[in-house]
Amino acid sequence: MAELLETGLLGLDFQELTALVQRHGQPQYRARQLFHAIYPQRVKSLRDISTLPKSFLAVLQEEGLEIRQPQIERKFQSQDGTIRYLMAMPDGETVETVWMPEGDGGEVADGSEAGDNGWGRGTICVSSQVGCAVNCQFCLTALLGVKRNLQAGEIVGQVATVLNDRGVDLERQHLNIVFMGMGEPFLNYPSFMKAVRLLVEGVGFPESRMTVSTSGIAPRIYDFGNEPIRPKLAISLNASNDEVRSRIMPINKKWDLTSLMHAARSFPLRNRERITFEYVVLRGVNDELSHARELLELVRGIRCKVNLIALNPGPGIPFAIPTDRLVREFQSVLVQAGIPTFIRRPRGRDIYAACGQLKRTVA
Ligand code: SAH
Ligand code: SF4
Repeated sequence: MAELLETGLLGLDFQELTALVQRHGQPQYRARQLFHAIYPQRVKSLRDISTLPKSFLAVLQEEGLEIRQPQIERKFQSQDGTIRYLMAMPDGETVETVWMPEGDGGEVADGSEAGDNGWGRGTICVSSQVGCAVNCQFCLTALLGVKRNLQAGEIVGQVATVLNDRGVDLERQHLNIVFMGMGEPFLNYPSFMKAVRLLVEGVGFPESRMTVSTSGIAPRIYDFGNEPIRPKLAISLNASNDEVRSRIMPINKKWDLTSLMHAARSFPLRNRERITFEYVVLRGVNDELSHARELLELVRGIRCKVNLIALNPGPGIPFAIPTDRLVREFQSVLVQAGIPTFIRRPRGRDIYAACGQLKRTVA
């Protein structure tokens, strides 16, 4: 139970809560009460669960057990409404979680609810690790290295904390979750997937409103395709050939474009689903029209869309922002060949909340 003490009850699934309840000789239905309070109701403390008998509460407290949502340590508000949260985990490590009130723009996705007086919009960008080990050369998170994996409860906890802070009622407001914060979700696969299941079965997010982005951990893409419950898949391609990709994403030396694109081609898509390919455009590195044509050949035949993301610059990042004109021409090459291609608007650039800028700027 040492692990429980550290991370708390948030992150336990229904079976684990059932085992806990049984260990204390409590009736079976207490597990359902706990599950309901922790996930759909997003209760912060056991004391706030009115249905829990005082005696059971006392025993749990004696053991040092609590729910333990992450604490909001700092909050930075951008002019465009984006909020960057610095969240402290029970052991004091911090990660960042971002709230984007209008989604991330540049694409309609399946946002049928979008536009009705502000209801039905909004995206939460969630971290999966403290730092990241993948070392992409254009990414600020990479400069941190990886401190540790987040546990399932710490991933779900970021969502619960933002929902509570924003006062979101999920019955009325249909939000999206993107696993695109700090870390590589597929290098923390079991905890990431457990978090997904708790978000779907517990908190009440439909899987169709979640997207996970990977830098290309090919073997996990096959595993992910076999999951009965899973978010949509985005792959950070960022280059159209191995030479450029290995230079800006060293992970490409382990899983090159041949193995990555094989995984993408084999990926079992659901009805009307598409893979998203992300492509961070770096001036003079991957922004030529010849790169666009190469990219076209790579993705040809895959039901997909492409998101072009102009580099979000930052201190210590040795690349420059591309020109708007080249990005638009790059987009045209793909669009004319029938590939839906969007230029993503950077959000919260003024507070370093945009893609690739999540970095602990405060200790
Ligand atoms: N680690 C995962 C998910 C988080 S990164 C991954 O890499 O896919 C989310 C997205 O931000 C990725 O597509 C990544 O390529 C992009 N990104 C990273 N640094 C960036 C930067 N400086 N400017 C713009 N996009 C960046
Ligand atoms: Fe890690 Fe993604 Fe940043 Fe690459 S882009 S270093 S995988 S967080």
